[in-house]
Amino acid sequence: MPTRQSRRAPGTPGGRFAVLDPATGEAFDEAPDQRPDELDAVVGRAHEAWRGWRADPAARATALRLAADAVAAAEDELAPLLTREQGKPLAESSAEIARTAARLRYFAELDPGIQPIADGRPVDSEIRWRSLGPVAAIVPWNFPLQLAAAKFAPALAAGNTMVLKPSPFTPLATRLLGAVLSAALPEGVLTIVTGREPLGARLASHPDIRHVTFTGSIPTGRAVARGAADSLARVTLELGGNDAAILLEDVAVERIADRLFWAAFRNCGQVCMAVKRVYAPARLCSDVVEALAQRAKSTVVGAGLDPATQLGPVNNADQLERVERCTDRALADGARAAAGGHRLDGPGFFFAPTILADVPPDSPVVTQEQFGPVLPVLPYGSLDEAVEAANGTGFGLGGSVWGTDLDEAEAVACRMECGTVWINHHAELSLAQPFAGSKQSGVGVAGGPWGLYGNLRPFVVHRPREA
Ligand code: NAD
Repeated sequence: MPTRQSRRAPGTPGGRFAVLDPATGEAFDEAPDQRPDELDAVVGRAHEAWRGWRADPAARATALRLAADAVAAAEDELAPLLTREQGKPLAESSAEIARTAARLRYFAELDPGIQPIADGRPVDSEIRWRSLGPVAAIVPWNFPLQLAAAKFAPALAAGNTMVLKPSPFTPLATRLLGAVLSAALPEGVLTIVTGREPLGARLASHPDIRHVTFTGSIPTGRAVARGAADSLARVTLELGGNDAAILLEDVAVERIADRLFWAAFRNCGQVCMAVKRVYAPARLCSDVVEALAQRAKSTVVGAGLDPATQLGPVNNADQLERVERCTDRALADGARAAAGGHRLDGPGFFFAPTILADVPPDSPVVTQEQFGPVLPVLPYGSLDEAVEAANGTGFGLGGSVWGTDLDEAEAVACRMECGTVWINHHAELSLAQPFAGSKQSGVGVAGGPWGLYGNLRPFVVHRPREA
């Protein structure tokens, strides 16, 4: 297969926009601000590339394996750039790049197969699978590369071609990733476009796009679904979460405290599946607050490129304001900051890791997704009360139960209305599992074979046993 894209992403006739380093708050580079009307040509090239790409599954699998190797080999280039624009510690960027390569490897080996229909009739009917055509992906800024790969790996493995738009807060590592992948993928199979709105809106509503796969907030997800309605493109939405962790009466607080803390604070809390609310038995609540607050106070906050840093900045100024607003409101409503509770002085978008106690249950920091380094801990009286509170939002992405009696923990886990529930853990995902939020946290299923089939269309051949 020819590989004609140059490693340096081309400039565009449009303008450029600044990309900020969240550790300093200063612009350090810029990216092309592509205009929505450029998408016709981009989607046209993706359509042309689809003819060759869909034709040969074995060549596709080989190309995806090579792509995975190319990504792994480029870690030293990709990781610092990802940290620079996203803010996360360098080791986490490296881990994200490893997960990006792993997605390519996983989907390279998946084959949709042919399924016989066994319904007792005297015909040999079979379900076969076809690719969809050019598809679109729109990605947020918290895990730009890993979430991009979660979309392009199954789409490309299925034989589709893709136009992918990263967030304007994190366009650079994705552009570099596109250049790295161009060593393994034919031109037009995966095209990265960057720009500010309405570029994403136009991509979601483009008449020649056959599937829009979106990860981001619930309000934008609604806009994407509305945009795709005219062309009746398939829509997969991976949206916000407000995951609850329920601690049981027999929980060993010190034993789980590190894991629980990092389940909430990894990537500065900017994880769709972070623990965003803790429900603790009333008699243990102050122990839990104290254990988490100790860890918050001893966490090293700083620039992601500093090897000592455990927690980087919030990604952008809007997000920092949102986190601050939610925290201030909780404090004004009577909550107590057992740790943090404020921005950090100096340049950059830093917020002190915050543990909130005595939070009113209807405070926005509990009922909404604040998406930052802030964790409310709420007491409960009975387990029924805890499960009702955990399920009492419009979100349903993930959840967890923490305790010593695993049977009891599993029984509680099965009562939580969300796509994935962990016991004594949170947000550890397998590539082979379905990823599907309940309620307003998502539409459609990604991950594992479901992610592959989500990028395919079934067709059935009915064949008689005799002519
Ligand atoms: P966002 O919804 O603001 O933006 C997501 C993407 O959509 C960006 O690329 C943005 O430029 C683009 N966009 C903005 N307006 C658009 C429009 N009208 N039409 C099409 N595209 C548009 O989200 P964000 O702030 O970048 O990311 C944080 C959100 O993402 C949180 O809610 C988080 O929970 C969610 N998220 C969900 C998952 C998941 O798998 N469920 C994973 C990561 C993040």
